[in-house]
Amino acid sequence: MTLLSVQNLTTYYQIRRGFVRAVEDVSFSLERGEAMGLAGESGCGKTTVALSLLKILPPNGKIVRGKILLNDLDVVKLSESELREKIRWKAISLIFQGAMNAMNPMYKVEDQIVEAIRLHEKGVTKKEAKDRVAKLFEMVGLEPERAKGYPHEFSGGMRQRAMIAMALACNPSILIADEPSTALDVIVQAQVLKLLDELKRKLNLAIIMISHDLSIISETCDKLAIMYAGRIVEVGDVLSVFKKPLHPYTQGLIAAFPSIYAPKQEMSAIPGSPPNLLNPPKGCRFAPRCNYSMDICLKESPSLIEADKNHFVACHLVHK
Ligand code: SF4
Repeated sequence: MTLLSVQNLTTYYQIRRGFVRAVEDVSFSLERGEAMGLAGESGCGKTTVALSLLKILPPNGKIVRGKILLNDLDVVKLSESELREKIRWKAISLIFQGAMNAMNPMYKVEDQIVEAIRLHEKGVTKKEAKDRVAKLFEMVGLEPERAKGYPHEFSGGMRQRAMIAMALACNPSILIADEPSTALDVIVQAQVLKLLDELKRKLNLAIIMISHDLSIISETCDKLAIMYAGRIVEVGDVLSVFKKPLHPYTQGLIAAFPSIYAPKQEMSAIPGSPPNLLNPPKGCRFAPRCNYSMDICLKESPSLIEADKNHFVACHLVHK
């Protein structure tokens, strides 16, 4: 059953020179217990999608159209108090980029998680919240006693585990992990990803994994959505997208990725850079960098269509 259905989500940031069209007509769905990777270059709108889902955009950011249906409740229409009561932490939780900086260095980790629990769940006593923190710490593979320490007493990997414990404190059904393993060494990175995978199975948790690293997504996700310049250009089952990428941008991303099995060859790169989202191209936003660009690509923006079973792509080549 569909847990989350995002339909034509469009989010802009207002700056002095106009509107930055950071996310435009983004649609995807997520089922309970499903993990979806959201990939693309820096600045393609991945984090803006995450911030929009929780409606925690900076003051100049605004959802200008679209729906975010969570069990048929449209998050876009909810007031601040409704979002606090029903959505943030309880239904959707976010692990921010850079666990190193996400905790307040002045307070013990336990106190920070207890405060978050009691802020979002009225009526929970301090003792109950502390017991919950101990259980959460155990669940993420940390000694419950460690919760009484300050963030600087944790290693990078421990801090990331503590952040995951904090994100799960109010039992959400969706966890958004924004670059959860950036700045961690590869061994700790593998441990954190394994933990997320275990939690997904154990708690039937839906996960949105934001990353520019396709290897992380291929290992941990069931589904992959590729974003380019604020739009989803391809989305489908991870295997299907990796084996048969249909969009030229996805093909370029995968070709730029080293394989340990393939013969040694020079890495390829996608020439050019993403467009300025203050004034993006009228048609396909990838057209200036695409080797297959046609007349229609410069005039019409391609819509996302189902090219194969559960495999959607937005490209005029496929529309032909
Ligand atoms: Fe290339 Fe045209 Fe497809 Fe865009 S729509 S990716 S320009 S072929």
